[in-house]
Amino acid sequence: MLGGKAGIGNGTKVFHRMMVPERMTSACGAVGMGRAAIEIAARYADRRKAFGQKIRQFEGVSFKVAESVTLLDAARALDYSVCRAVDAGEHPDRVRRLVSEAKKFSTETAWTVVNHAMQILGGIGYTDIFPVERLLRDVRLITIWTGTNEIMDLVIQHEYFREFLAAESTARDVESDARGVEYPEEKEYNE
Ligand SMILES: Cc1cc2nc3c(=O)[nH]c(=O)nc-3n(C[C@H](O)[C@H](O)[C@H](O)COP(=O)(O)OP(=O)(O)OC[C@H]3O[C@@H](n4cnc5c(N)ncnc54)[C@H](O)[C@@H]3O)c2cc1C
Repeated sequence: MLGGKAGIGNGTKVFHRMMVPERMTSACGAVGMGRAAIEIAARYADRRKAFGQKIRQFEGVSFKVAESVTLLDAARALDYSVCRAVDAGEHPDRVRRLVSEAKKFSTETAWTVVNHAMQILGGIGYTDIFPVERLLRDVRLITIWTGTNEIMDLVIQHEYFREFLAAESTARDVESDARGVEYPEEKEYNE
């Protein structure tokens, strides 16, 4: 994108380019942390017994596992598709949005999953007998660094509006599918 030399005045471009591997490392690392946590919790839920049965037989436990693996699969799929978009050399503005989506979704997924894992472990999950308490602290950090997830929202909406509004004149008019299409005067946009 920038060739061998960035040159004076190109700092923003350098920063944007650096943030691609930075934020994808956060995104993919988050999926790995979430996977580790839920594997620990799943193993524990299969061994730990309460009220005469394995705790994974309680829906309150097993549904947390279900939600966790679903979220992790979704985050992993998003991360793969964003990595492919980066490798394919898609437009830098679009890549910026996709990378921000991957970072935000994957780190928030990991936060949810690690919390589920700690809850499944109960009190022992809060101690350092299992590494889940460390994963919880580490995952909390990655929702903040390489740009907070609020900044990811800022980037996502900014790049979305830019791409969407630029393409609007050539896009199919989906609003014309409405049954009330013959009443355009009903659409009032001013105060
Ligand atoms: C352990 C650790 C390691 C780090 N390593 C590195 C590193 O190697 N390299 C590096 O460059 N940085 C590093 N950082 C810095 C990290 O990237 C920043 O802390 C992070 O980007 C947030 O910036 P800030 O702390 O200045 O928060 P601030 O920018 O002060 O934000 C504070 C709060 O305000 C919110 N906020 C700010 N602006 C807006 C806005 N426009 N809209 C909505 N909300 C907003 C933020 O989301 C956040 O909730 C590291 C941080 C930590 C904790």
